[in-house]
Amino acid sequence: MRKIVIAGNWKMFKTQAESLEFLQGFMPSLEQTPEAREVVLCAPFTALSLISKNLHGSLVQLGAQNVHWEEQGAYTGEIAAPMLTEIGVRYVIVGHSERRQFFGETDETVNKRLKAAQAHGLTPILCVGETKQQRDAGETEALIAMQLEKDLVGVDQHNLVIAYEPVWAIGTGDTCEASEANRVIGLIRTQLSFPDVPIQYGGSVKPNNIDEIMAQAEIDGALVGGASLEPSSFARIVNYQ
Ligand code: 13P
Repeated sequence: MRKIVIAGNWKMFKTQAESLEFLQGFMPSLEQTPEAREVVLCAPFTALSLISKNLHGSLVQLGAQNVHWEEQGAYTGEIAAPMLTEIGVRYVIVGHSERRQFFGETDETVNKRLKAAQAHGLTPILCVGETKQQRDAGETEALIAMQLEKDLVGVDQHNLVIAYEPVWAIGTGDTCEASEANRVIGLIRTQLSFPDVPIQYGGSVKPNNIDEIMAQAEIDGALVGGASLEPSSFARIVNYQ
């Protein structure tokens, strides 16, 4: 049985005060969430410690949005895995398209980050996906195959989540058809050596499309941006039917 993982990616949103306010609204709704569903909050670094102290034994897991491959060192602006695990972080997003697009993240650095995360007991959420231009040029399958091949060298697939995030669907309201996301995720699965890796869909996941997305056979969860910022909408998503 593959694990279901629903993760909120808060990106560069929420101060500590806003994070606490979110928890107050969101936590009560978890009473309806089946225990088998893993719920993850990937908050900004500055909010992680405070959130960790306010989870009060709930099933919510804490996630970060990036991790460096060295344990420490002169890497201004980066964060090391032991700094995350010390405060209770369990998951970390690696290779999000916004990092690849705006911060020079490459498949080589993604690979190093994945291995470092795993070496410290973190579960990486590896993001892959094509741009609109690549989709229109019919390059989706080849591009994703290439990302997986390079990103996963030496990576333990038993401690891994993959998120298929078509770049054109992120923050646009232009969700990938659930059946198409299912098809691409099925293809991703054929490339894995461990077939039970949970594979999420991400890109304009909302309360009104989560049920259809989660009804797809190959889709094991969601990586949610904008709709994870508001307690009632994220609650509706984690409590999908
Ligand atoms: P949106 O849900 O805002 O489209 O963002 C998706 C995403 O990038 C999650 O990592």
